[in-house]
Amino acid sequence: VVSVQGLKKSFGKTEVLKDVSFDVSQGQVLSILGPSGSGKTTMLRCINALERPDSGVISVDGISLDYGQGKPRFRDVLRQRRHTAMVFQHYNLFKNKTVLHNVTEGLTVVQRKKSEEADAIARDALEAVGMTGFEDRYPSHLSGGQQQRVSIARALALNPSVILFDEPTSALDPERVNEVLKTMKDIAARGVTMIVVTHEIRFARAVSDTVIFMDCGRIVEHGAPQQVIDHPQTERLQEFLNSLA
Ligand code: ATP
Repeated sequence: VVSVQGLKKSFGKTEVLKDVSFDVSQGQVLSILGPSGSGKTTMLRCINALERPDSGVISVDGISLDYGQGKPRFRDVLRQRRHTAMVFQHYNLFKNKTVLHNVTEGLTVVQRKKSEEADAIARDALEAVGMTGFEDRYPSHLSGGQQQRVSIARALALNPSVILFDEPTSALDPERVNEVLKTMKDIAARGVTMIVVTHEIRFARAVSDTVIFMDCGRIVEHGAPQQVIDHPQTERLQEFLNSLA
């Protein structure tokens, strides 16, 4: 459902992504591990069209953009983007909107659904993340873990082909991390396709179908979690895993 081929991206003279390729099938969970600065966030932002790659092909649900052929048409970028949803490290909820309104916003504004239908979809999504009963609260009256669960509901409600998670637990207090990981496990169990940038090795091992280890803008190891996490082949990955332990 997602295919990335030969992705390259530089900021000025810094090559952040150097020929990154991978595929994710429908219903699969891909986790991306790697040290700070290895290009993980930039990669997700390219898939979400928040950054424009210098070259490479990104396909989402059959909509393919070839960045090597110059700037793709804006219309096509938007069309592809509607098939993705992103969950950010810092939740990025609208502070002046209620929980329900945060989740319905994309449904009514982007997907042009009627408000009754959007409400019903949003309530289902909030139920899926265990946030029923919080519909009328404002984000500032929620814990970080609760805000992140609302942001997961917001992504889920859009019914995208893939949800992109950018270190979704790294801004949370330690005691809030597990509730968000559990929510993500529940979402994965529903068959949602997910790409997750994370430092949570136990989560990656338990939930992922595939794990990628990135370093310096390249994929260094790529395989099943038992292979990549339990039997690292390279010194770089061994060192990285030791640094987290
Ligand atoms: P982290 O775990 O710290 O978020 P990361 O693996 O996600 O790291 P990126 O955020 O993708 O790494 O950043 C990769 C490199 O690109 C870094 O050296 C960063 O400074 C640089 N970079 C990212 N965004 C920009 C930008 N908009 N302009 C210039 N340089 C950038």
